[in-house]
Formats: sequence, C-alpha cells, structure tokens
Amino acid sequence: MRSLSIFGATGSIGESTFDLVMRKGGPEAFRTVALTGGRNIRRLAEMARALKAELAVTAHEDCLPALREALAGTGTEAAGGAQAIAEAADRPADWTMSAIVGAAGLVPGMRALKHGRTLALANKESLVTAGQLLMRTAEENGATILPVDSEHSAVFQALAGEDTACVERVIITASGGPFRDWSLERIRACTVAEAQAHPNWSMGQRISIDSASMFNKALELIETREFFGFEPDRIEAVVHPQSIVHALVGFCDGGLMAHLGPADMRHAIGFALNWPGRGEVPVARIDLAQIASLTFQKPDEERFPALRLARNVMAARGLSGAAFNAAKEIALDHFIAGRIGFLDMAAVVEETLAGVSADPLFGKVPDALEEVLAMDHLARKAAEEAAGLRQQKR
Ligand code: NDP
Ligand code: MG
Repeated sequence: MRSLSIFGATGSIGESTFDLVMRKGGPEAFRTVALTGGRNIRRLAEMARALKAELAVTAHEDCLPALREALAGTGTEAAGGAQAIAEAADRPADWTMSAIVGAAGLVPGMRALKHGRTLALANKESLVTAGQLLMRTAEENGATILPVDSEHSAVFQALAGEDTACVERVIITASGGPFRDWSLERIRACTVAEAQAHPNWSMGQRISIDSASMFNKALELIETREFFGFEPDRIEAVVHPQSIVHALVGFCDGGLMAHLGPADMRHAIGFALNWPGRGEVPVARIDLAQIASLTFQKPDEERFPALRLARNVMAARGLSGAAFNAAKEIALDHFIAGRIGFLDMAAVVEETLAGVSADPLFGKVPDALEEVLAMDHLARKAAEEAAGLRQQKR
C-alpha cells in the first residue's frame, strides 16, 4: 500500500488532495503517515479520522490541546508547533504533498527532499525563496519534485519525452484576475473583497489577492526559471482570460505544445498523485465548441508592476527571490489589514528589494536554509518599515 503525507491539509490545495485521495479509496488505498494544518482543528481532526492518519500536526502549539481532544480515542497521534511539522516530514512516506501557504512551507519540503522522497510541490514560495538550494537538495538525494502549480504541471507535461535542448521558450498564462480590464486609478482604490474575488479559480485568500496584483504570476515566472532551469529571456507570461490553456512550450522547429485543462486544481494534483502514470480525475471535461474562443493578450506592466519586479529577481537570482517573497508577504498582510493600498504592495516590494540589494546575501547562491531564513528575516524587517512609511502617507 502506498503511503502519503499532506502538509497544509486543511487549505484549498489540501482539501482537493484529500478529496482525490478519498475518491481513490482513502484508508483502503493509502496509508496516511501525517496530516498537518493550522488553526482549523475541527477539519484537521475530521480528515485524520477519515484517513486513519498516524499523526496530525497543528502549526500552532496553543491549538494542540483542542487537537488532542478532537482526536481522543482515534489512535491518531497529535502534535503542535513548527518543529513538530518539520519532524513530521522526517517520517517515511512514498508521496508528500507540500501545500502549506507561504515561506513556512519551505522547511518540511526541504526535509522530505533530504530523505529522497517524492514531493508534490504546490508551495510556490519554496522555489521562489530557495530554488537553487531546493533543486540541488533534490538532485543530491535522488528525490523527485512534481510541480503542482497548474502552469508548471502544464509545462512539465508538455516537456514529457522532449529534448530540452530544443526548447526556445516557455509561456505561462495568467487569467488577468478580477482587475484585468480595470484602469490604474480604479485598481489603486480597490478593496480587499474586490481583490480576493477571482473570476475563474477558487483558491485561498492570499493567492487570490496575489492573482489580482499579478504577484502570483510574478512568483510563477521565478518558479519556472528555478524549476526548469531555462534562462529568463526564454520565459514569458501571457494573459489568457479563459484559463483553459495553462502553459505552452515552444520548440526550435517552431512548434508550440500547449497544455489545456479545466480551471480545477484537482487536475494538476491528480497528475502528481498518479505520476508516473495517469489515472481518472473527476474534473469537468473541456467542451471547446462551447468555449468557442481562446484569447491572449500582452500583460500590462504599468498596471501590474509585480511582473517587472519578477524580471529583476530572475536576473539577480541568489537570495533575491527570498527577499521578494518576504516583502510580498508583509505587503499583503498590510493590504489585508487595510493599512496600505493595493498598489502600495508593489511599491513596498520594490523599496524592500532596493534596500536589501546591497547585502552580500542578496545575490548569493544559498548553501543552507539558514541563509534563506536570514534573507527572509532581513527583507521582512525592511518591508515592515517601507509599509509603515506608506501607511503614514495615506
Ligand atoms: P490556504 O490558505 O487555503 O491553505 C494553507 C494551508 O497551510 C492550511 O492548511 C493552513 O492551515 C496551513 N498553514 C497556514 N499557515 C501555516 C503556518 N505558518 N505553518 C504551517 N501551516 C500553515 O492555501 P492554498 O491551499 O490556496 O495554497 C497552498 C500553497 O499552494 C500556496 O503556496 C499557494 O501559493 C500554492 N498554490 C495554490 C493554488 C490554489 O489553487 N489554491 C494553486 C497553485 C499553487 P489552517 O487553514 O488550518 O490554518
Ligand atoms: Mg498557478
């Protein structure tokens, strides 16, 4: 029987993973080693019961008593805190889903790779903050990373069996989010509710707002650079409002291989779960005649400055991605809390990058997680200051 662990089980990706695992037979088909969550203890305990998990971990120590109580009599062990989450990744599992949101997902993912595991990677921040270290760790330990972000799963599938030396370009698509056709002035004045209302995808709050600002696409450009290793000038983003084509790979013979799929993350998760084969996944089937037209347009870097900032990070590499992500996370916290405006987020990130770029760590290829965390820490501090100044100016 295959064994698996799900990090971030109670989130949007975690729920979709749980759904697919249950449809494939749940505890009859898989031995669940560990499930982790944050504050949603009721749901974590429900999932642990349904999958007869050996271990359930909450990220927050103060939630541990509630988790213990919810799991009483089930035989599932309960644990709490960031350290317990890291240790859960030490427990052997054939397949591990990395779906914690934010930089907190980096540590368990790295631990799983050090043990040579197969890691389904949804947590994009891992590749953005520590791409070179992550890829090297996987290679040195014979581990496999399967991309779960839909665009990267699409590129992975389009590249299957191909000679990467013949790849001229990789194009990832962006829906354009809720503000695709909004003017700069209207975007500037948007509310949190407007920013998190994604037209095509149902996702967690943070990634939905990142889609509206196109910070999500910015992270994905960096992710593409780090995961597939193509030079930045070969990587493009194009706006495609229908979210049917997820990525295209262009070859030296002029051919473009496109990957099409429904806007349902269970497609990419299912691909990773069934890899190296394919298996039935219960997503809606695409009716091309019904869709009638697929359109594409050039992204506007003036209204969506995150894309321009991503280009700088793709060129600088090293730990610039850790600074970029940390600044983006802080800026997003401040936007959600109503302290800064929507466009202030990009300004905070740009000012943070400028502020920390003189640090020797900025362009350094990381040798250890500690360096990534040090840059993360430095950038968070700088971003807090930048956000504070923006708030005063409002
Ligand atoms: P959610 O916010 O829906 O879920 C996040 C999960 O992480 C929850 O289980 C949450 O627990 C847990 N969590 C939150 N904070 C911490 C922490 N500090 N330590 C440990 N666990 C924590 O996120 P999504 O599922 O939307 O996204 C997960 C990852 O996948 C992100 O990196 C995102 O960018 C990426 N991704 C998501 C896509 C999507 O469609 N949603 C698409 C492509 C990539 P709890 O809720 O119990 O507090
Ligand atoms: Mg994506």
